[in-house]
Amino acid sequence: MCSISKKSFNNMKKISFLFLFSVVLFACSGTSQKSSFQTQSAFTTSTDTIVPIKKSDDEWKSELSAETYWVMRERGTERPFTGKWLANKKDGQYVCAACGYPLFSSEAKYETECGWPSFYESLDKSHVKEIVDNSHGMHRIEIRCARCGGHLGHVFNDGPKPTGMRYCINSVSLDFVPAKKDSTDKK
Ligand code: FE
Repeated sequence: MCSISKKSFNNMKKISFLFLFSVVLFACSGTSQKSSFQTQSAFTTSTDTIVPIKKSDDEWKSELSAETYWVMRERGTERPFTGKWLANKKDGQYVCAACGYPLFSSEAKYETECGWPSFYESLDKSHVKEIVDNSHGMHRIEIRCARCGGHLGHVFNDGPKPTGMRYCINSVSLDFVPAKKDSTDKK
């Protein structure tokens, strides 16, 4: 009886050890997945505090110019080197052309030869929404206004320091709000 109890006790020890080993394995696996997700989430943003603007296509059509509607609601792209903000060097903020939401600062704008206004970061990561775009045989990250969902452009990882990112944005998707004291007009 005593030897049977000892055997049972040993079996229980083995089972407990296997259970603990499984728990540790699962925990490690979870940690690994979380770490991987965090690495991939460089392109993700939080929209928790933003109240989305939702309008019908007809409403947007009545409010936006034909070109703005095409770019922002149908994900079009303006011709390179034609945008009105490409050469703008004034201090201020670039806001969504459809809803006025602040998107980029002039401080993050830099000169590039890609043909569209480019920024190395958004005003706040939560102000833009990033979506995987596999259209036209390419893998890109599309950028949309986090509030109205309007298409802005794409973001690439070939930008300058400090972020290494290039937010390549259609001028037609942006309005510009000059800084109140723009004494550093570089034009
Ligand atoms: Fe917007």
